[in-house]
Amino acid sequence: RNMGRLSGTNSDNGVAPDAKNLRVKLVLLGDSGVGKSCIVLRFVRGQFDPTSKVTVGASFLSQTVALQDSTTVKFEIWDTAGQERYAALAPLYYRGAAVAVVVYDITSPESFAKAQYWVKELQKHGSPDIVMALVGNKADLQEKREVAVQDGLDQAEKNGMLFMETSAKTADNINQLFEILRII
Ligand code: GDP
Repeated sequence: RNMGRLSGTNSDNGVAPDAKNLRVKLVLLGDSGVGKSCIVLRFVRGQFDPTSKVTVGASFLSQTVALQDSTTVKFEIWDTAGQERYAALAPLYYRGAAVAVVVYDITSPESFAKAQYWVKELQKHGSPDIVMALVGNKADLQEKREVAVQDGLDQAEKNGMLFMETSAKTADNINQLFEILRII
């Protein structure tokens, strides 16, 4: 695991980075209601809160969590649904993010189309070496599926992203998603 870039030391200089000082900023993007907050809460607290409200307008969630291997992760969700009036804040949000997770809802083609917008935003504002994942959430709602797995895969491959389908409700693939933190 190469931690040099994140800890600010050069991994080639032989100095082992101190895992205890590893801080990772992870941003989640995607339309309101796709389940970003639920994904983070499921991972961080092992809970699913079905009363979690759909975000209207802008909201911001920032949660810093110490993982078992002493990595500290700052999860940030900037939920503006891509509203133009927040565009000026975008560079702040993306700055220093090592990981970006773009979420859509597999029952919502609109949210999948919007994922493309968020990927473009990342390419514009994100660090060139940011690790990106495309995530199709609400995979428990198979009978309501409107976005094919293959479409998600194709989109991810086209943009050099990891791909996964998750369910914050059943916890399916949630831990696997955050394994991404081990490859940066
Ligand atoms: P956010 O706006 O992207 O942060 O979305 P939320 O996390 O607030 O979730 C929006 C709604 O989707 C809530 O009513 C959740 O209960 C529901 N939800 C989130 N994840 C899942 C999931 O994996 N499966 C199902 N069935 N519902 C989910």
